[in-house]
Amino acid sequence: MLEAIYEGRNFNLSSHLSSQESVKQEVQRLKKAAEKGAFTCPYCDGVLRLKAGEVKEKHFFHLNNSCVISEASEVYQQQTKRETKSHSVMKEIIYDELKTQEKINDNLHVEYGYVDKAEEKWKYYPDIIVNNKKAELAITILTDVTANKDSNLVRKIKKRNEYFKSKNLKPIWFVEETEQSIDLAHRVVHLWEAELDIAIRMEEDIEWESAIKQLELNNNLFDIFDYHHQSLPTTLDVFSLYYVKSTETNITFTVQRFIKDQLSHPYRAFALNHPYEIKMATALWTEDSMQLSDPIVEEQQREVFVKEALERDEQYMVNDEEELTTSSQPENNPQTTGKVYEDHDIEEILSEYMKEVEVVSADKFSKFLVEECGAPSHKFATGRYQIYGKVCTTLNAMEKEGTIKLVRKDFVNDRLYKVV
Ligand SMILES: [Zn+2]
Repeated sequence: MLEAIYEGRNFNLSSHLSSQESVKQEVQRLKKAAEKGAFTCPYCDGVLRLKAGEVKEKHFFHLNNSCVISEASEVYQQQTKRETKSHSVMKEIIYDELKTQEKINDNLHVEYGYVDKAEEKWKYYPDIIVNNKKAELAITILTDVTANKDSNLVRKIKKRNEYFKSKNLKPIWFVEETEQSIDLAHRVVHLWEAELDIAIRMEEDIEWESAIKQLELNNNLFDIFDYHHQSLPTTLDVFSLYYVKSTETNITFTVQRFIKDQLSHPYRAFALNHPYEIKMATALWTEDSMQLSDPIVEEQQREVFVKEALERDEQYMVNDEEELTTSSQPENNPQTTGKVYEDHDIEEILSEYMKEVEVVSADKFSKFLVEECGAPSHKFATGRYQIYGKVCTTLNAMEKEGTIKLVRKDFVNDRLYKVV
């Protein structure tokens, strides 16, 4: 272990030695002091000795081997050996902030992972465990995740993630911000495989999800944002990733929300929000669950997104409108039913219309509604009738019932359905 109590204060061997000019000399001095009983274990008060061999890293050890926390500490040190220096810096800052909250919140319990679970001798320890009586959160900071090629790392993180879940903890991973890769112009987040695994769903993600579902778009979300996708999303589940950046005395968080798309290399997702900085105290606010967001900014961003999505959805139908090839279109429009048009008539008129054609074109039928049935003739800038959206929705519903079958879906120009 690297930690000890020295002269009534916390002492960390590695950070102490890193500030020394002559490490060798200082080690000799500390060794002597240790032999005289100057260093004790912060967990069990046992006397510590200093081991300063060439092979293993310099460390303290107990004279009697019965300290569970120091054993857990060893396991934890091994597990975090790969992390960069900023790992322990960020961990301590987060720990201090949470400890401050603990003082004013009786329901909050904050502890280092290996201290909290030492008795249970866990296989892996998160950096910090937060228990707020409703849930137990396992917080882990990841630095240097670049090793996507290193399938070893991905496997390790996956295992730890599953392990914490199996212990009924909610794992929360903070990834060093240098790993963040977003291109909002293309609406894409590029991810490491490890990042995809540790993305979680928090309360704000659920809020985003329901806002998207309430949009009732005529076109697909990926299409209207011109997002280059492999396949259309089967679900609209929103996930989030949390990035940390440390300055000398403080750290800030950013959140990235997305809908998963490509689940094999190269890993990509549809970006929902503009990443924004969240102050530490706001991000780590742990009243019910850890907040990890700024609710005011989230609300604003969602509003902007919803507005843009609706505009794009409307515009999407009219972009690049071109005349269709005439081969598959019905040649003659059936005659008007002579009724006064109302919105709910679309379905009724459509079933009459279908009796006389083999292929229904959404575009042609819209024109038929306006020209022959008295539907409103409002047009988009490019000349398409605005009723086209409602026509598509109706056709969609009929397809689900099985009365018609989609033969060609060309989002920009038209949709053609065959009457079954
Ligand atoms: Zn001890």
